[in-house]
Amino acid sequence: MKWLQKFATTLEENKDYLTELDAAIGDADHGINMVRGFQKVITQLPSVADKDIGSILKTVSMTLISTVGGASGPLYGTLFLRASTAIAGKQELTEQDMLKMLQAGLEGVIGRGKAQLGDKTMVDALAPAVAAFGQAAQESKLMLEAMQKAVAAAEQGMKETIPMQAKKGRASYLGERSVGHQDPGATSSYLMLKSLLDII
Ligand code: ADP
Ligand code: MG
Ligand code: MG
Repeated sequence: MKWLQKFATTLEENKDYLTELDAAIGDADHGINMVRGFQKVITQLPSVADKDIGSILKTVSMTLISTVGGASGPLYGTLFLRASTAIAGKQELTEQDMLKMLQAGLEGVIGRGKAQLGDKTMVDALAPAVAAFGQAAQESKLMLEAMQKAVAAAEQGMKETIPMQAKKGRASYLGERSVGHQDPGATSSYLMLKSLLDII
């Protein structure tokens, strides 16, 4: 899948950036974790190339859970697992399928990590993006425009994590010292959606 390839490349390009963001409020490994996981995903893509999108995303999920440590491995793993179930058997995605997939992925992250909006996590990029995509789909916008709106919302949500105090994950241990830094996971989530837009 082009999306996964694009995201893997984007992660490599942003590996140091993500790791620097995590150095400020975490343990300086987010870029490393994500690149490790998606490099492994890329090596597995040829073996699932003829499979439906749901099966491919399920493979991604299993790979992330087994190769990415820390908080982000299980969270992104759950995101892809729930996304895969939402579109099981599909070879192509309509706007409605995409909405279901994004909603399910977000619900997976929230179910697993229990973060709410404003807790300074990936949810702060993902939730506004899913809402924006849903709004656009309801207005019968086509895939490209709906995804443009989703990515713009994710970017804004990512930036809005800067003044937030972290309430979940490692950054929450810093208390008020987490304020003034952009959340690494919100940043990788924005990059994930941007990669999806770039291949549409
Ligand atoms: P670790 O913190 O274990 O080193 P990473 O650095 O790879 O893991 O990932 C950190 C990111 O994970 C954070 O920036 C945040 O966005 C996300 N995160 C941490 N805990 C949660 C949670 N409970 N819910 C949602 N996202 C979370
Ligand atoms: Mg970390
Ligand atoms: Mg870590």
